[in-house]
Amino acid sequence: MFFPEPALSVYTRLSHVLLSTDPQQRLRLQRSLLAANVFLACCLLQVYAAWAGFMSVDNVKWLTGTIVLNCLLWYTVLRSGFNLRFADPALTLPQILAAITIIVGAYAVTGPVHGSVMMLVALVLVFGVFNLKPRGARIASAYSLLAIGAAQLIKMETDPLHYPFKLEVAHFVLIAAIVPTISSLASQLSSMRARLKQQKDELAQALVRIQILATRDELTGLVNRRHMMDVLQQHRKRLQRSGHHRFCLALVDLDHFKRVNDSHGHGVGDDVLRQFAQVAQRGLRDTDVLARWGGEEFLVLLNDTTTEQAQVGLERVRELLADAVVAPAVPQLRATFSAGLTDYDCTEPLDVCIERADRALYAAKAAGRNRTLVEAAPTRSPVLLQLDTPAAKGEAASARII
Ligand code: GH3
Ligand code: MG
Ligand code: MG
Repeated sequence: MFFPEPALSVYTRLSHVLLSTDPQQRLRLQRSLLAANVFLACCLLQVYAAWAGFMSVDNVKWLTGTIVLNCLLWYTVLRSGFNLRFADPALTLPQILAAITIIVGAYAVTGPVHGSVMMLVALVLVFGVFNLKPRGARIASAYSLLAIGAAQLIKMETDPLHYPFKLEVAHFVLIAAIVPTISSLASQLSSMRARLKQQKDELAQALVRIQILATRDELTGLVNRRHMMDVLQQHRKRLQRSGHHRFCLALVDLDHFKRVNDSHGHGVGDDVLRQFAQVAQRGLRDTDVLARWGGEEFLVLLNDTTTEQAQVGLERVRELLADAVVAPAVPQLRATFSAGLTDYDCTEPLDVCIERADRALYAAKAAGRNRTLVEAAPTRSPVLLQLDTPAAKGEAASARII
């Protein structure tokens, strides 16, 4: 059924246009616009400063122009996605260095009120706390001190009336105490972020590992019994809901496997199990699910298929297995299997269907092994249908295990 997307409000649509729909980019743009807000307040203050006679109109013009250009530049870079080419797409350090440069410029042209501009340096550095690595924090802090120190030296020389030596010393001592403190806090936060990220990565890896352990058989890598039950339940529900996607189940058991262990050792037995898993997966369709049911027994879910088509798949596996070297240490060793095949009748409990496959398997063993027998679902006539395979007609399976 088609569900129309809920209509977006004008505000949401506008925010998508202005800030993009990518959550990371939105966050970067929001931070940059937050800084632009402070800059806007500074522009208003400049108008006031010009009115009050603290700044010349010319200085207000160029400083406001620079601030507006700076804000537009970062907005364009971030909104266009150009920032994504860089290692830190937030471009935190360049934005901070540009802001510090403008603040130092403001410090130099605000005459009698230049002391109040200093607090903006601290505010700008606080933005770095979110993103800067320790090295970036050190660069931002060193640049701030150098730039403000240079501006102070020049202004003490050119405008000693408004920038007297004693006052500038006090300003510098204050800024020299504040800036490295913020830088050190940024470094500590950066280390905490790195630790958290590492823990998050380790947790994600552990979850993947737990998922594998919970759903896979360690020896063969096949779906394990518990997970296969979940898979079967899902297929059962899908079939019951849709009436489509009928499936068959085959219980497959390696013939005389105990002899392999007894004659060649457990290691060779394990190799045979692993190789059988690989060969069977090659022979089956991608949509079929092969699970290790226990020991040398496997359960195959054959999707969207009749028992006749499923038999063809199982015989393909039988042919592949007949030619396969199943244990590198014993190249002449060949393995065969017996299988009990049935179709799921749509309503019965899964256990009943598996029991039917098990009965057919038992009959295949009794009939001489290395063959597939079918017991159809009871909604059809409950007949055992012997598959007339070349393998079944040939030598007894027991003779083929060396
Ligand atoms: P049949 O043809 O009637 O199935 O005979 P069989 O020997 O295959 O059956 P039986 O049940 O007597 O023996 C199964 C053997 O499978 C016994 C057990 O030691 C062995 N086996 C079960 N799990 C593993 C395993 O993970 N590795 C190895 N190497 N052997 C296993
Ligand atoms: Mg067996
Ligand atoms: Mg068995």
